[in-house]
Amino acid sequence: MPAATTTDLLGLPRAALAEALAPVVDRPFRVEQIYQALYARAVPDFAAMTELSKELRARLEERFHIGNLKVSERRLADDGTCKVLFRLGDGATIEAVDIPDRGRHTFCISSQAGCALACTFCVTGYWGAGRDLTAGEIVGQVLALRADRGLPMEGLNLVFMGMGEPLLNLANVRTALDLLTEWISPQRITVSTVGLLPGLEEMARWEKRPNLAISLHAPDDARRSEIMPVNRTTPLADLLAALRRFPLERGRKITFEYILIDGFNDAPADADRLVRTLSGLRAKVNLIPVNPDPVLGDRMVPPDDARIDAFQARLRAKGLIATVRRRRGDDVSAACGQLRAFGRDPRGFRGRKAVPAR
Ligand code: SAH
Repeated sequence: MPAATTTDLLGLPRAALAEALAPVVDRPFRVEQIYQALYARAVPDFAAMTELSKELRARLEERFHIGNLKVSERRLADDGTCKVLFRLGDGATIEAVDIPDRGRHTFCISSQAGCALACTFCVTGYWGAGRDLTAGEIVGQVLALRADRGLPMEGLNLVFMGMGEPLLNLANVRTALDLLTEWISPQRITVSTVGLLPGLEEMARWEKRPNLAISLHAPDDARRSEIMPVNRTTPLADLLAALRRFPLERGRKITFEYILIDGFNDAPADADRLVRTLSGLRAKVNLIPVNPDPVLGDRMVPPDDARIDAFQARLRAKGLIATVRRRRGDDVSAACGQLRAFGRDPRGFRGRKAVPAR
């Protein structure tokens, strides 16, 4: 373990890295070598930077460390989905998931160790708030998962759909994206959010914008507020107005995630209502049959396949692009909304009572 007194280099973008290294390294090409070693090669320590002299490596060792994340547990699902647990320096635990699909890999990564939003269908939210992850811990998940799965950085898709609300930790998410977009096109990166207005306004000003996914989950305010407390302070009209202003490059659309809960939001009239709610937006809908979990109570049940298909068909008939997210990795609790540090609460909190949908 690195001494607490040394500076962690992981998560520093180029300029910040050069500044931190200045007392030891002054030539820009050396800084670049270290930058590449940290991120493109994801070296475990300075000893692995054999392109540097022994003396320089020793001097780096004295002042700095590389806060790599270590996979502390791993669960492989039958479908190839792999969920890993990281134990962070302060004991907090987070999860990330590798989802392989026809030769491509999507990494689902966390932005916070927990979540304060308390959506009633989400296990992460059930366990309550945690702390923000640093940029190094966000980038570190990608590096560690890639190393663990033996994958190159190129060709990855990234989704910020793990634990936490990325827009509540936007500064660190942005720093992490600045780093990651050197290797992964922003078009291959999606940030998923409940849609917090200040965060959306900030993202709208970014130069390299990732794809945006909005966790919508209900077609109207009454039901969205029932399952997503955030909707009580940011009602749909405000959210949709902000999304209409959100700049989209040619051909891009905003993804709306809509979990289907049996008997709650899956009626044909709900599909029609959803179409009206999204009218005027460049939208596509991703339907997610809700993943049940014991802590959520027994009313979070997905509709049967016929009802899911009918809902999708109704959206399509009205001209909306709608896909159904196949459930992945649910045999190891790696599916959407099931990330909660391998069933343990890292802070000893017993969790609030699940509020079932009606
Ligand atoms: N806070 C952000 C990022 C987390 S993304 C957001 O809400 O978008 C996690 C995704 O999984 C979200 O779309 C979330 O709504 C969805 N999800 C949560 N619980 C789920 C469950 N039980 N079944 C299916 N999807 C769920």
